[in-house]
Amino acid sequence: MPFEKNEGGKYIGIGADYVALFEKSVGIPIKMVTTKNWAESITYLKERKCDILSLAMPTKEREIYLDFTKAYFKTSVVIVTRPDELYIDDILQITDKKIGIIKGYAYGEILRKRYPHINFIDVESIKEGLDKVCSGELFAYVDTLVAAGYNIQKDYLGELKIAGKFGDTWDLSVATRNDEPMLKEIFDKAVELIPSTTQQEIFNKWVSVHYEKDADYTAILKAGSILTVLFIIMLVGIFINRRLHAEVERRKEAEKRFEELSITDELTSLYNRRYFNEIFPKLINSAKRENQNICFAMVDIDFFKQYNDTYGHAHGDEALKRIAKAMQESLHRADDYCFRLGGEEFGILFKGLSAKEAKELVESMRENIENLHIAHKQNSASKYLTASFGLIIKNANAVEDLEELYREADELLYEAKQAGRNRVITITASAIDKEEQV
Ligand code: GH3
Ligand code: MG
Ligand code: MG
Repeated sequence: MPFEKNEGGKYIGIGADYVALFEKSVGIPIKMVTTKNWAESITYLKERKCDILSLAMPTKEREIYLDFTKAYFKTSVVIVTRPDELYIDDILQITDKKIGIIKGYAYGEILRKRYPHINFIDVESIKEGLDKVCSGELFAYVDTLVAAGYNIQKDYLGELKIAGKFGDTWDLSVATRNDEPMLKEIFDKAVELIPSTTQQEIFNKWVSVHYEKDADYTAILKAGSILTVLFIIMLVGIFINRRLHAEVERRKEAEKRFEELSITDELTSLYNRRYFNEIFPKLINSAKRENQNICFAMVDIDFFKQYNDTYGHAHGDEALKRIAKAMQESLHRADDYCFRLGGEEFGILFKGLSAKEAKELVESMRENIENLHIAHKQNSASKYLTASFGLIIKNANAVEDLEELYREADELLYEAKQAGRNRVITITASAIDKEEQV
């Protein structure tokens, strides 16, 4: 089925429908002769126990005793396997496996000749063939698309599948005994008379095969593998990239931490003396190029020894932090610097302000320190912690020697201490004015 079946003495299937049509056009009844199987039908034809086969394929061997009309029913030849097998796009893929085919089928003869190394195994019926594929006794079974599709859908859904297709079609004709040549002529006419719409109706009536013709699973698998490989490459790429990125970040962070460590003071987070030594000449050179004032103040906390003695070293540290912060917050431009030069001594460095502005800025820093209101009983200059400032303001082009500038600031700081502390001492106004006119 769906080609033909003897159902309790009644001939049914595609073949039967065609025979009914032939019967009409020929005008004489066609009687069914019952046989056990296909092979017996062939034998009956040879022995002239019957006269025609309604659906048969011409072969050299059969032409010895049969004539064939024009083919009136064509169907593809397919391979059936269990569902877990791959799609078979080339019969040569399966040369070492057992493939079942119905004994006596014309197509079997063709296949055996074409592929002598393939192990084709005869089976009595499509049922036997399909059962043996199910049980694993046969790797595959070859039949027409129509027969295989019909039977899989009916009895083997989920157990078997159409795994591949041969390029050939199975062209079925009416076979007539060749010792009666008139029979061939009659049936040739009968075949010609079948309208194409009727052919389609018969086909549709018996065949509704869900055939995944284009589902080339090897191609899908290949594409799948390629995608998987690409996906893995992508993941590895992302992974490496992330690790690299993390490593770069880690190094940047380490480097940053190392600059910070080497140029900042741990207690106050101000720049340290090392950085002062680096920046001092640079800023002076930059101010020289722009013909600007360079301003440098030396700062020293007043009576800090007594502060430690009175309030303890830990409070001293805390006070240092707060004073450092207050000074830093008084500076706003990128090129304004505050350094911790040593214990409780600081340096302030900036450029580009007039003498008046510079004095005001440094004076505000002094006030900001006092305004922290850090109580200091031993300070004769104030109730609170204060600092003294020695400020030197010069046109950068008047600076010949850095050490001299530093020494001058230090001398002014000493003067501030001598003058009573908690104050800013700068070089005399006349001297500044003179230099500003340069
Ligand atoms: P003045 O400057 O007003 O003349 O008196 P002074 O008491 O501040 O004298 P000097 O500047 O010579 O003394 C510095 C003191 O600062 C000595 C030390 O006890 C204290 N000091 C220096 N570095 C630190 C520090 O990191 N933490 C604390 N808590 N104290 C420090
Ligand atoms: Mg000091
Ligand atoms: Mg001091």
